[in-house]
Amino acid sequence: MEPFAYNHQSYFLIKNWMEQYPGLAAGITTKIGGSSTGVYEDFNMGFHVGDQLDAVCSNRSQLADLIQFPLKSWVGAEQTHDTVIRKITKNDRGKGSDSYDSAFKGTDGFYTNEEGILLTLCYADCVPLFFISPIHRMIGAAHAGWKGTVNGIARKMIEKWGEEGIPPNEIFAVIGPSICEKCYIVNDYVINFVENTLEDVEKKPYNTIKEGQYTLDLRKLNKMILLKAGIPEKNIQVTKLCSSCDQSEFFSHRRDQGKTGRMLSYIGWKETSE
Ligand SMILES: [Zn+2]
Repeated sequence: MEPFAYNHQSYFLIKNWMEQYPGLAAGITTKIGGSSTGVYEDFNMGFHVGDQLDAVCSNRSQLADLIQFPLKSWVGAEQTHDTVIRKITKNDRGKGSDSYDSAFKGTDGFYTNEEGILLTLCYADCVPLFFISPIHRMIGAAHAGWKGTVNGIARKMIEKWGEEGIPPNEIFAVIGPSICEKCYIVNDYVINFVENTLEDVEKKPYNTIKEGQYTLDLRKLNKMILLKAGIPEKNIQVTKLCSSCDQSEFFSHRRDQGKTGRMLSYIGWKETSE
């Protein structure tokens, strides 16, 4: 079943998680409904792509209102396709929310078990990974392009949570809207890294088109990595939404030839009023 439900033109929600876990906000934005212009039309969330700062801040404030999660409680990162994952506390709130300068440097994953913090990351084709362990109130997010994927950012999140006393069978994951296998053509350089991450797998996450050219399913590869890290298959949901196929709803770095906006993934526990 598709984990993402279209609730409003500007964002998809992880509906079954939000129904099961009261107080949870989790989803990903679309490109529709904001105030960015040109190649960033309309709802660009990325500060670093050349869009007007005012437009990005206005789009972010608009989302904050829509999902009822104040901008001052967001955290964001300067993502570098690496595998650094940070534990976030309330003291970090606001970093990277309204400027790129204040974002966490060189960070591609966040997790927290505190309320009132929205973990955000930006995408245009790379794979958004969402994590939750409801018993432990732990939530997390990671940005997995091909580099982050082959370097095991998904596994690293599971290891970090292991250090917090959370076993893999108590972790659930959602693999979000990103470039599909059909749209993602790569060369031998990338496939060599992919091969190095695979051991004894029957079904490869890629297909050969011709000598030196392959279609790569990054979502499947991330799922394989999560399974290998011990997450039960029943705990993993994978979207069918493709950032490149769906031109009207998503930005795609590949399709738009590098000049485009960014979607924003988010996950957070709303503050419970006392
Ligand atoms: Zn596609």
